[in-house]
Amino acid sequence: MNRRKFIHLSALTAPLLTAKNVIANNKTAVTKPIVISTWDSGMPVNAEAWKILSANGTALDAVEAGAKHIENEINCCVGIGGYPDRDGIVTLDSCIMDHNANCGAVAGIERIKHPVSVARMVMEKTPHVILVGAGAQQFAVENGFKLEPETLSESAKKAYDQWLKKSEYKPVINIENIPQGQEPKKQNGPFAPNFFDDGSANHDTMGLVAMDASGNLSGAVTTSGMAFKIHGRVGDSPIIGAGLFVDNEVGAATSSGTGEEVIRICGTHLVVEFMRQGMAPELACKKAVERIVKRDKEKAKTLQVGFLAMNKKGEYGAYAIQKGFVFSVKSNSENKIHPSKFLL
Ligand code: ASP
Repeated sequence: MNRRKFIHLSALTAPLLTAKNVIANNKTAVTKPIVISTWDSGMPVNAEAWKILSANGTALDAVEAGAKHIENEINCCVGIGGYPDRDGIVTLDSCIMDHNANCGAVAGIERIKHPVSVARMVMEKTPHVILVGAGAQQFAVENGFKLEPETLSESAKKAYDQWLKKSEYKPVINIENIPQGQEPKKQNGPFAPNFFDDGSANHDTMGLVAMDASGNLSGAVTTSGMAFKIHGRVGDSPIIGAGLFVDNEVGAATSSGTGEEVIRICGTHLVVEFMRQGMAPELACKKAVERIVKRDKEKAKTLQVGFLAMNKKGEYGAYAIQKGFVFSVKSNSENKIHPSKFLL
């Protein structure tokens, strides 16, 4: 089910989901292992991670497998099938972090199918944290990753052609509220991004964090970033402390939305620090969202950012600026999509 469709459905079923239920869910300690991920597209991602977690595998292997799963979806929003930048080039951002604060990332990498695995290799095989652009690609190829063709996926080509009609540079993440009188255009495949007549596109960064049976946390993020961005633009997703942060004593957090706003406040690091102070994951995410909104409330009305976090007890929560952010949870006791609360 694509996200916009889910939002339609969730609006219909909203009365069933009382505030009390959401709070109760949020406070229920969940048996390890557990994996949570951004958006409804996190459901199959969680399922993949769960194969590893339920077989006593590590959270690190689980988050990599989950991220790779969505990177394989050719008509998806992340990976080489994602939307290109304004020059028609798909550039990918990804990072990974484990329970020992080991981390690796790639930014602006082109023509590589599994940026998350390159990020893991940066973490494990180099003394560095981030490789970018041509250097990241060179490192990947040297380490056996195949260079994929430059061609855009069917859905990306359609969206890009649409966008080219006006070529209007609007570097804002669209908000999930479907504009009045407009239906999202349907595309092929379960992960297919939708776009509207003006070419505005979904932003479906996959961020996931997992806790394994031994109680260790890891996280990963993978994305093609903001659609039709300036070539070379990097968002929050590959930045440790912005798009992802893991502290095995406290918890882990990830984000999706307008990366610039997340970077400005070191978003996921902030969320984890709020949890360190004793806040529940949902409240920690809310405080980070408030930090963004407080800086410029008018601007915030045009933005979307969602944070998603888990603490060491396996409690989880999310918060977004606007309505529409959803997240997916898989544990021994549940397998479902939750709507996030929102501020504006
Ligand atoms: N956070 C991503 C970025 O700014 C976009 C997204 O979440 O879709 O690149």
